[in-house]
Amino acid sequence: MPDQPPTNQHLIHTDVAIVGGGIAGSTAAVLLQNSGINALLIDPHEVMPKDFRCEKFNRDQMQMLERLGISEKIYDACTPIKDVWIARKGKLVNQLDYPHYGFSYETAINAIRSYFKTPKKFLASKVKSILVNGNEKKLVLSDGREISAKLIILSNGLNPALRKQLDIPQTMLSKHHEMAIGFDIEAHNQNEFKFESFTFWPEKHSKNLAYFTAFKSKDTFRVNVFGYWEKSDPFLRKLQSEPETSFNTLMPSLQNIIGDFKVTSRIHIRPVDLYQNHPENCDNVVFVGDAYSTSCPGAGTGTSKALADVGILCRKYVPKWLEQETIDANLISQFYHDDEKLKSDADSFNQAYFLKSLTLDKSLIWGARRWMRFFYHLGKGVVSGMPNGKEGIKNPKLP
Ligand SMILES: Cc1cc2nc3c(=O)[nH]c(=O)nc-3n(C[C@H](O)[C@H](O)[C@H](O)COP(=O)(O)OP(=O)(O)OC[C@H]3O[C@@H](n4cnc5c(N)ncnc54)[C@H](O)[C@@H]3O)c2cc1C
Repeated sequence: MPDQPPTNQHLIHTDVAIVGGGIAGSTAAVLLQNSGINALLIDPHEVMPKDFRCEKFNRDQMQMLERLGISEKIYDACTPIKDVWIARKGKLVNQLDYPHYGFSYETAINAIRSYFKTPKKFLASKVKSILVNGNEKKLVLSDGREISAKLIILSNGLNPALRKQLDIPQTMLSKHHEMAIGFDIEAHNQNEFKFESFTFWPEKHSKNLAYFTAFKSKDTFRVNVFGYWEKSDPFLRKLQSEPETSFNTLMPSLQNIIGDFKVTSRIHIRPVDLYQNHPENCDNVVFVGDAYSTSCPGAGTGTSKALADVGILCRKYVPKWLEQETIDANLISQFYHDDEKLKSDADSFNQAYFLKSLTLDKSLIWGARRWMRFFYHLGKGVVSGMPNGKEGIKNPKLP
């Protein structure tokens, strides 16, 4: 099909329509653009607004972005961090060489979108419905326009509306799997924190805290806290009115290690479900990123999974699918059964359950695992003369 830029006409034709421009959809749009494929990204916001999502990339994730050819502008938008201080069981035990990068989600997405060569490939609108039209499916936008496409990439994240319209079943693997909390802090009395990045693992596992991490992000220190509280937990209620006291009560040794701090922003609290959708019988539509399955924020695998999805899809499958007369469910299931994708999905789920057990499981074996991690870091920290010496480790997901 010849390249037809969208116009204000009622019906727009494109080879590929991408619904949702988070990390999955925006990356897919850039990859397809770079392969010369006629693709149109639809998202309600031309400039991604503030949202509490992934806020740091580790080295592995940056290398994925490098391989996809979209790292340069992300490096420019991020705050590079060289190492991380680690506290376990109430003690500062190690300082690791651990290159990672702080950012706000919208900054990273807008950096990816800045790779668009032509704004005509982006449509600021919301997809209201998907209509079945013979061999083609049509998207209806909230402003009444329609888009016909040979292939629809559904990358609309956690929004269930289009999945439900398509009658795609969902398996809820772990309802309210984890609670993610995010906010900014600063050291009291205009002191400076001595670290660029700090991770505090709990003193006792019974308090539901997975870990607390503070890291530089532009001109602020951002904190992410992950744990397994019920929505009604008094800790969460008290957090909004007395944040510093709540954290110091939860982690009594925190203040001794990082000094007095104050919370300087709104506290975002997000419960996260772990689920898997089953779009394998759906013609013309392929699901990627969170629209396919969710991840555990504390395990930090969601963006890797989304990038793996679109890298595999856009480089390996979309160009050859477009040569076919129709793109039916059989063809699309090649992607869902791709070995590399299966491995990436399994890795993400395994880490979600690993972190939960590491935090909550009271059995001997998990207790031993917690102590092993403590002694490993303590040993390394002592050998390297913590806090001045450093021990390098290779791309750990959870240092
Ligand atoms: C609090 C939190 C912390 C996290 N921390 C980490 C972390 O540290 N590391 C990590 O790797 N992962 C983390 N994750 C997971 C990671 O952020 C997600 O897995 C990833 O952002 C998913 O990207 P996506 O593109 O699939 O979806 P999204 O980023 O949600 O993008 C979906 C897009 O679709 C658009 N959209 C929705 N409906 C429509 C529609 N009808 N029409 C058009 N557009 C639509 C939305 O506006 C949005 O722009 C975290 C998640 C959360 C919630």
